[in-house]
Amino acid sequence: MQALVKYSKGPGNMEIREIPDPNPGPGEVKIEVKFAGICGSDIHIYQDNIAIPLNLPVVTGHEFSGVVKAIGEGVTSCKLGDRVTSETAIDYCGQCFNCKTGRYNLCNGRKTLGYWYNGAFAKFTIVPQDKIHLLPKKISFIEGALLEPLACVTHATMDQGIMNPTDIVLITGPGAIGLMALQVAKAYGAKVIISGTDYDIDRLKFAKKLGADRVINIQKEDIYQIIKEETYNCGVDVVFECSGSSSAIKVNMDLIKKRGKYNQIGLTEEMTSLDFNQFCYKELKVTGSLGSIWTSWENAISLVKNDKVNLKCLVTHQFPLSSWKEGFDIFENKQGIKIVLKPV
Ligand SMILES: [Zn+2]
Ligand SMILES: [Zn+2]
Repeated sequence: MQALVKYSKGPGNMEIREIPDPNPGPGEVKIEVKFAGICGSDIHIYQDNIAIPLNLPVVTGHEFSGVVKAIGEGVTSCKLGDRVTSETAIDYCGQCFNCKTGRYNLCNGRKTLGYWYNGAFAKFTIVPQDKIHLLPKKISFIEGALLEPLACVTHATMDQGIMNPTDIVLITGPGAIGLMALQVAKAYGAKVIISGTDYDIDRLKFAKKLGADRVINIQKEDIYQIIKEETYNCGVDVVFECSGSSSAIKVNMDLIKKRGKYNQIGLTEEMTSLDFNQFCYKELKVTGSLGSIWTSWENAISLVKNDKVNLKCLVTHQFPLSSWKEGFDIFENKQGIKIVLKPV
């Protein structure tokens, strides 16, 4: 089969290769991939600037949906022909405190699909049966390929338990993650303000269509003044920081209300220095989130099934797997929202 392989360390070093079709071992499921989304971390793998362990050469891609084509001995979680998606934390120690308490996203021994194990930018991929989530009839394959990033968003927004229906929520960064967080916050009934830069003009327009109560281009408008007006001079109740921008993080600390709640979803490229006194003076509750756990996936599936989150509209580009470079370039140039590849 054709697969997109990161074959050695260093920037680039990625190409389509012909590799043998994989076969499922005991407890494993072979999935024919229908769609696989390009994620920011795929670009980091390409550029070789990611901290997550890689086992090279490896087939990349971890956000996907597909059909069960073969099952190994003892598989009971799905059957041939099932429409499925899969979690990406393929292996973890099972013995540490985090694993034992269902927080396997935080296990030091976590090994991930598309980084350590051959991933989904290929005709077939293999996952353990307990990572499978069945797609309800109502969820299409293209939506199914976006459940992984949505699960990361529901982990940040729902599993952390920091949002209430009456909250005013600020989301910084209107990329795919920010636009998903916007929809989840609206599903809670919150008032949502979302900010971006000149790069994000189209994304901010799109955010408006998805129900944002207010959009802010921080390069054209005064975010301090707008937040003052929108929050009766109190600041926002909750911040979801989805941009990874150090300057956004610093500004957010000013815009958040006393006893407000803050969650960092975006990874930053540089160190951010903050005045920790603000945490005291404001009694802030600051959290972060990494990846997803079982409940995040089930919540993500429910939100899409019940029309609370629209994933389909976030897909702006589709390419055959062979045109992966075009998709990666569009992503790197910050065009579009979500780009998916289709293995043939
Ligand atoms: Zn991803
Ligand atoms: Zn563990």
